[in-house]
Amino acid sequence: MDSKTLQELEAKAKKLMGFETDKKITWCGNCGNYAIHNALARALVLENFERKDFVMCFDVGCSGNGSDKFEAFTIHGLHGRVLSLAAGAALANSKVKVIAEAGDGATFSEGVSHLVHAVRNNYPVMFIHHNNENYGLTTGQASALTRCGVKMLGTPEGVMVEPINSLDFVLGLKPSFVARGFSGDVDHMTELFRAGLKHKGFAFIEVLQACPTYNRLTPDAWYAERVRNVEDLKSYDRTDLWAARKIVQDVDKEIYIGLLYENPEKKDFVSLLKSREGAVTTPVEEVKHYDVRGLI
Ligand code: SF4
Repeated sequence: MDSKTLQELEAKAKKLMGFETDKKITWCGNCGNYAIHNALARALVLENFERKDFVMCFDVGCSGNGSDKFEAFTIHGLHGRVLSLAAGAALANSKVKVIAEAGDGATFSEGVSHLVHAVRNNYPVMFIHHNNENYGLTTGQASALTRCGVKMLGTPEGVMVEPINSLDFVLGLKPSFVARGFSGDVDHMTELFRAGLKHKGFAFIEVLQACPTYNRLTPDAWYAERVRNVEDLKSYDRTDLWAARKIVQDVDKEIYIGLLYENPEKKDFVSLLKSREGAVTTPVEEVKHYDVRGLI
């Protein structure tokens, strides 16, 4: 790619990110959220998305505060409910790409039932799971993904129970797309997001995210020493569900990142709807407008 094209792409990506507007930035310095949104903006530009082509749905949390840092059409919903909002948006208008974001607290506690059915129904949504292993916005409480023994606000003697293995949980639901990146590698995340944008069903993309303020146990440097790219495994078959479940068991020593599992055969929810077969318009375009002013 020549330098002029690169500069043009960079300028477009920068325009998508609202970091330079007068909106107040509430994220801490060195938070992994900056890198995640940088990678997302790059992926959207590289896949030729214009602002009209996508909608972003945000949950409550530090990740949710990204809703005012991205120059896009955004919905900022209730805690744990982002996937139901995203599913609704995707069913109403299949001509736009729906991107949803939520943290580990919302995804694996308040919203875990929505996660189960979003994966099962294979809604056409790209979901970015910000996994920083704690509730950052509310000053560092343990989530269902905080490691055993870690001392957090609310559990000063250390978390007593084992965390959920997030990817094993999702793989157990027979998903169509599961990937993992980490916030210390923007280029790698960009490629994962590009793949997620192209996926027709529910793309679950976990980002192991640095939270330097409340999760000092696993910063980017900790992950950088441990992450391994699944593409370096010559014999790895990413359509093998059991191979994927096996590879995600280790979350301490050798942590695999990349596109870990894909099932291209699983149809997305909209494709399964008999009532929408052959439809050239979307439900949102079919809404009839009635002038009720005369009745009032
Ligand atoms: Fe980021 Fe953690 Fe600060 Fe939240 S508390 S903005 S996740 S560094």
